[in-house]
Amino acid sequence: MAAEVINGKEIVRSIREEIKQEVEELSARGTTPGLVVIIVGDDQASHVYVNNKEKACAQVGIQSHVHRLPADTIQEELVKLIHEYNRNPEFHGILVQSPLPGHINEEQVVDEITPEKDVDCFHPVNVGNLMIGKEGMLPCTPAGVMEVLKKIGVSPAGKHAVVVGRSNIVGKPMAMLLLREHATVTICHSRTPNLQDITRQADILVAAVGKAGVIEDRHVKPGAVVIDVGMNRNAEGKLCGDVDFDAVKEIAGYITPVPGCVGPMTITMLLKNTLSSARRASNTGTEA
Ligand code: NDP
Repeated sequence: MAAEVINGKEIVRSIREEIKQEVEELSARGTTPGLVVIIVGDDQASHVYVNNKEKACAQVGIQSHVHRLPADTIQEELVKLIHEYNRNPEFHGILVQSPLPGHINEEQVVDEITPEKDVDCFHPVNVGNLMIGKEGMLPCTPAGVMEVLKKIGVSPAGKHAVVVGRSNIVGKPMAMLLLREHATVTICHSRTPNLQDITRQADILVAAVGKAGVIEDRHVKPGAVVIDVGMNRNAEGKLCGDVDFDAVKEIAGYITPVPGCVGPMTITMLLKNTLSSARRASNTGTEA
């Protein structure tokens, strides 16, 4: 039987509706959540992503500001700006859009964002908190995947989850969140031999590789939940995932479409993190 294609748009719509209501309530109590996105240079794809983030903020009532810097901005200037936003009570989330120009050390820049406003959850303190299971910021893409599982009623507890990809922004935190929810987790990567022998054991299979079609039907156990994080361009320039959608759809239990699920869920979790950060600031009296 063919898989159920997960209705990402509907999930995103319902979560954004909840966020909008909570933003309204918090704003009525005097704190309007604010997000600043810093973008350096003219990477065209980045400008598209940033526009999408701005639109999403407007949709739920989060105040957003895009701070554009020229491509030749030096690291010290960028760090100085981050420090200013760290102190600025109007903004509860700070995001530095990746990629940065080659002369800037991205890792060092991320470390300068105060962990309280690190809505991407890239700062080592937030990554550490995630690791030890402490309350706090959650990484947007993996948190979005967990929300999708929740919305379709699939509990990871006791399931075998296989994550393909071990990057710091997707694969590793994805594995941690699944582990937190009591899945038995296996992480695969480019040096994993016989990938299909492992992925075929997965009840929940998350593909975060960045290569179109790397997950074929032979990699998937019948009935598995297949979540496609990949965002690739095919030969015609069309956006596609890591999963061979048409083939895998025939055997999986659930499958996410690309585009239309994990991408917009990631932005939704960014909104959620900004709201949570604003709420914490409001509770501790550090807002404007
Ligand atoms: P990275 O390039 O940082 O990581 C890719 C991972 O895939 C690496 O761990 C790599 O292994 C592994 N890998 C590469 N080739 C293979 C293979 N043939 N078999 C098994 N594993 C392999 O990418 P990201 O994690 O940043 O992103 C992954 C994908 O997700 C990309 O398409 C990206 O665009 C997308 N993405 C989507 C987001 C969204 O909002 N929807 C957000 C973030 C990312 P190794 O470590 O050994 O090199």
